[in-house]
Amino acid sequence: MAGKHLQWVEISRGSYSRNIAVFRGLLPAGCRLMAVVKANAYGHGLLAVAGLAAENGADALGVNAVGEGDEIRRAGIPLPIVVLGYTRLDDLGCAVELGLEPVVYNAESLVRLDGEARKRGRRARFHLKLETGVNRQGVAERDLDRFAGLIEEAEMADLAACSMHFANIEDTTDHSFARRQMDVFARLRSRLELALGRPVPAHAACSAAAIVMPETAFQMARVGIGSYGLWPSKETYLATALLKKKPPVLEPVMSWKTVVAQVKDVPPGAPVGYGCAYHATRAMKVAVLPVGYSDGYDRGLSGQGHVLVRGHRAPVVGRVCMNMFMVDVTDVPGVSLEDEVVLLGAQGGERITAEAVASLCQTIHYETVSRVAPHIRRVVVE
Ligand SMILES: *Cc1c(COP(=O)(O)O)cnc(C)c1O
Repeated sequence: MAGKHLQWVEISRGSYSRNIAVFRGLLPAGCRLMAVVKANAYGHGLLAVAGLAAENGADALGVNAVGEGDEIRRAGIPLPIVVLGYTRLDDLGCAVELGLEPVVYNAESLVRLDGEARKRGRRARFHLKLETGVNRQGVAERDLDRFAGLIEEAEMADLAACSMHFANIEDTTDHSFARRQMDVFARLRSRLELALGRPVPAHAACSAAAIVMPETAFQMARVGIGSYGLWPSKETYLATALLKKKPPVLEPVMSWKTVVAQVKDVPPGAPVGYGCAYHATRAMKVAVLPVGYSDGYDRGLSGQGHVLVRGHRAPVVGRVCMNMFMVDVTDVPGVSLEDEVVLLGAQGGERITAEAVASLCQTIHYETVSRVAPHIRRVVVE
C-alpha cells in the first residue's frame, strides 16, 4: 500500500540485541539460546524478530506451529526451528521438508514423523517433551519405556533433546514446585538415557528460569518474554532480589505509535463516544486516534488507559471503538493534527508500559503485546 500508515510498531534493534546479550551472560558457557518467536514474536513481528535473532547469534528459533516455521524458511533464515506447539500428523511431512524440529509427545506423531522422513530420504530431528507437572504436553513416566522403544525403532527420526516446561516459575517467589519438576525431569531423563544407552541433551528454561534458576539451563534455554525486554513478572524481579542477585537490565523492544486524526472542542456536559458513556467534565479538548480494539487496543482501556502526546500523558475518554478512540488533551498544550502519539513505549520522560496496560485489562503483559494486531506494520529502528 502506498502512503503513510495510521499506526505502526517500532522494534528497537539495539534493545533486542542488548536483551539477548543479557541472557547470553546469564547462561553458562556452551548453553544454546533459543529465541522464542511464537505468536508473531509476542506481537513484535515474526520476520522482523526472526531476522534480529539470527543477526544476534541465536542458536535456534521457537515457534508454535509449522506455518510460522514455513514463513521463516521462506524469508531465507536457516536457523534450527523448534515447533513448540502441536503439529498435525498430516503436517509432519511438511515439517520434515522445511527442516523443522517438532516437539513430540504422542506415539502417533513419532511413528508418522519417522515414516515421512523415510519417504523423503531425509533425516528429521525431534524433541521429546516429558511430563513433569504442567499436565499439558508431555510423556508420562509410565509411557517412557514404550517411547524409548519407538525412538530406537525409528530409522530416520532422531531424538535431538528431551524437554520440560515450568508450571509456575513466574507466578511466585517460592520455587519449590519448580524444583520438584526438576527432580521429576532428572528421573525421567535418566530413565530415558538408560533405556537408550546414551546421553540425551535437555532443555527446560524459559526467561524466568534462566534468570532465577541457572541450574535449569542444561544444553539450551528457550527465551521469550525477556528477549522483548519485559520481565516475566513482578515475582521474578522480587525473586532476584531475594536471591541477592543484581537484576539484569532489560529494555522494552516494542513501541506502538499512531497520530492524532482530529482535535475537537467539546462543551461541558456533552457526551463523548458510543453509549454516551462519558460526559465532558469541563470545556474540553479531545483528540481522536485512529486505533481501536480490532487493532489490539483493548476495549477494557475505555476510560482507563493513557497515551503519550507532546511528552504528556493523556487519559482515554469514552469507549474504545473498533478503529478509533478518544483521549483528553485539554491539559496538553498545542496538540495538533497528525501529532505523533505513543500507545506503548516512551515519549519525552514518560513511558506507557505493557505491564501497566495489562493490569488495567486484568491480564498479563504477554497477552497485551501478543495481541497487537498482525496487520499493523512493524519497522525495525536503530
Ligand atoms: C513460550 C514458551 C517459552 C518462552 O517463555 P517466556 O516466559 O516467554 O520466556 C519457553 N518454552 C516454551 C515451551 C514455551 O511455549
